[in-house]
Amino acid sequence: MSAQVAVVGGGLAGIRAALDCADAGLRVVLLERRPGLGGATWSRSHRGLHVDNGQHVAMRCCTAYLDLLERIGSRDRLALQPRLEVPVARPGLPLAWIRRSRLPAPAHLGGSLLRFAPLTVPERLSAARAAAAFLWLDPEDPSLDEQSVGAWLRSQGQSDRVIDGLWDLLLRPTLNLPAREASLALAAKVLRTGFLDRADAADIGMPRVPFDVLHGQPATRALSNAGVELRLRSRVDAIEPARDGRLHLCADGTEALDVDAVIVATPHDVAGSLLPAEAGVDALALAKLGHSPIVNLHVVFDRPVLDRPFLAALQSPVQWVFDRTGPAGLSEGQYLTLSLSAGDACLGESRERLREIFVPALGALLPAAREARLVDFFVTNEPRATFRQAPGTRRLRPGTATRLPGLFLAGAWTDTGWPDTMEGAARSGARAAAAAVAGLRTAAGGRMPEAA
Ligand SMILES: Cc1cc2nc3c(=O)[nH]c(=O)nc-3n(C[C@H](O)[C@H](O)[C@H](O)COP(=O)(O)OP(=O)(O)OC[C@H]3O[C@@H](n4cnc5c(N)ncnc54)[C@H](O)[C@@H]3O)c2cc1C
Repeated sequence: MSAQVAVVGGGLAGIRAALDCADAGLRVVLLERRPGLGGATWSRSHRGLHVDNGQHVAMRCCTAYLDLLERIGSRDRLALQPRLEVPVARPGLPLAWIRRSRLPAPAHLGGSLLRFAPLTVPERLSAARAAAAFLWLDPEDPSLDEQSVGAWLRSQGQSDRVIDGLWDLLLRPTLNLPAREASLALAAKVLRTGFLDRADAADIGMPRVPFDVLHGQPATRALSNAGVELRLRSRVDAIEPARDGRLHLCADGTEALDVDAVIVATPHDVAGSLLPAEAGVDALALAKLGHSPIVNLHVVFDRPVLDRPFLAALQSPVQWVFDRTGPAGLSEGQYLTLSLSAGDACLGESRERLREIFVPALGALLPAAREARLVDFFVTNEPRATFRQAPGTRRLRPGTATRLPGLFLAGAWTDTGWPDTMEGAARSGARAAAAAVAGLRTAAGGRMPEAA
């Protein structure tokens, strides 16, 4: 019988890891604390609407995430723009656009930047110079992670207006921190891989369906078809080395399981509490990764007020607005979500206060919203949406392997070189599975790993 691997955590990292281990011929059991798969991407019902915990966006450069969608049969449920096109709204002013042209990278965004109305002509030229300077930065250079992108942008002559009017627009939603506070290394990764190195990299992908239809249900089917044993509502409490070189898992206080390898794909703070001392992973370092929240405001109007799938906003408390009418199954009116990255200031606010601030702000951007009747307004808070992607975090993110043979780490917080994203999660899962398969092969003298 083949060796057995346990995957702890059924987010995108755990799903990818479990599928790859099963595809390599291992026996796999996946233990997930919640009643369904998908981790940080989940859906629920709200007054007849199918609502996600928070709007997620992917880009064409997210190849590992797109591969995962393909593997679970969900690729056609993500609508990918044929060509990057972002409308940018400001109160009382015509839309500005970030669009790619047919030119090769990095010139593909040049025309759009030079016409970008929220900035003056000298500001546009200055921003173009800073964009060119990003091309000389190597995201893998450890010294970049020692400074904030805000400090670096100022050293490149970027004024507060340019930082707020352009760089924050791109970096806040991708790093879930204000651009001024984010790690330069991660910002360089986003701007190089996402915007500058390939012309089509930033084409935006948005789910056509709620998360349980995009990730949870198809992943459950794919795992079951691959022979993975799925244990939902099963919370792992401890992982310990066993006497025979195997690993011992305790779940729900009572259940015990001995396996040949374990992939821990939980959030970083949970991993810190689960890993045995022999793993040599510094739980304090994991705790220092911290958290950054994302708040989503869900706004239902009695009629359509936004005539495009999404828009970004400037000079407004609103950041990005998405039309979720179709995926949520709303038949009359329009359902918008306002995604607020690094939403610390909104976390403690009441629903009423947020409605008082954001509904008029939306009206200032979308004239039709001023005439429309507000049918519903509710809030989803994700206080631990991502780790805090600030300078100094690279050295806190552990790699895949631990010091304990057979014990591996996955999760968007591990050292993938990517920000805490669905892409980072998918990559980490694939890496952990490859390391687990290779480790078991080596232990079995190069043969297909057999059970101990
Ligand atoms: C509101 C919001 C908006 C976001 N927007 C974007 C976006 O636009 N684009 C993007 O790419 N990313 C976005 N992200 C980030 C993205 O969702 C995450 O990076 C990614 O989903 C993390 O996947 P993961 O598998 O690493 O971890 P998780 O999804 O956190 O999965 C970990 C799993 O482990 C389980 N678990 C925990 N403890 C135990 C235990 N003891 N035993 C068993 N199971 C356990 C959890 O229940 C969970 O299912 C957003 C996140 C949020 C919250």
